[in-house]
Amino acid sequence: MRTAVVTGGASGIGRAIARRLGADGFKVAVLDLSPGEDGYAVTADVTDRAQVDKAMAAVRERLGPIHVLVNAAGKDGFTRFTELSVTEWQRVVDVNLNGVFHCVQSALPDMLEARWGRIVNISSSSAHSGQPFMAHYVAAKSAVNGLTKSLALELGPKGVTVNAVPPGFIDTPMLRGAEQRQQLGGTIEYHISRTPVRRVGRPEDIAATCSFLVSEEAGYITGQIIGVNGGRNT
Ligand code: NAD
Repeated sequence: MRTAVVTGGASGIGRAIARRLGADGFKVAVLDLSPGEDGYAVTADVTDRAQVDKAMAAVRERLGPIHVLVNAAGKDGFTRFTELSVTEWQRVVDVNLNGVFHCVQSALPDMLEARWGRIVNISSSSAHSGQPFMAHYVAAKSAVNGLTKSLALELGPKGVTVNAVPPGFIDTPMLRGAEQRQQLGGTIEYHISRTPVRRVGRPEDIAATCSFLVSEEAGYITGQIIGVNGGRNT
């Protein structure tokens, strides 16, 4: 039985991934700011390397070596570029990009030792389209796609695959919050009307994709950016 760590696993997409990997037979640890309900919960801020290292060490001690890492922790932000403060820019980049760097570097030694590992980074479809008022978020998520491709080349020979899943509109507290604050450029219903499969995404749609990408069978898939967006690429 392998051990999987899911960051951001206390809510939304990360929670669905944690549940799904648990159902798939992984020992699951959820690393989040607040404790999750699924799996073994370790509380840490992904932007804080010392907290991340401590959390990963606790997982190793409790569940054994970490062979799967899904980076789903994320923070959105909606601010006109001319009004974007240095502090907000840094926090959004810190959570969405630097957090992935810390978690991958902290979990990786176990995968290298096993010569087997699976890393999935949850980026965003906005990295393809761009998004007004989300320059910091889109920049960070685009960088996650780039990080994914480079890591795939570096780690492929060592048995570790690295892929990114950029979700489209997925019904989570993050999306509903943005809708309530009228930051989505229209209601969710409006966005559904522009989505070819005519529904909003479910966290389980992302979880199913992750489930495959971390499986034994997906060993020939690496460095890929696999959109899950109902056919809507922008
Ligand atoms: P969510 O807000 O429901 O869940 C995000 C989780 O990340 C929360 O549990 C939160 O506590 C955790 N988190 C935030 N900052 C953290 C930090 N510094 N350290 C540790 N944990 C932290 O959001 P969601 O919609 O489930 O989003 C999951 C991922 O999917 C995010 O990376 C988000 O950017 C991405 N995404 C979501 C959508 C969507 O439509 N919902 C679209 C594109 C991308």
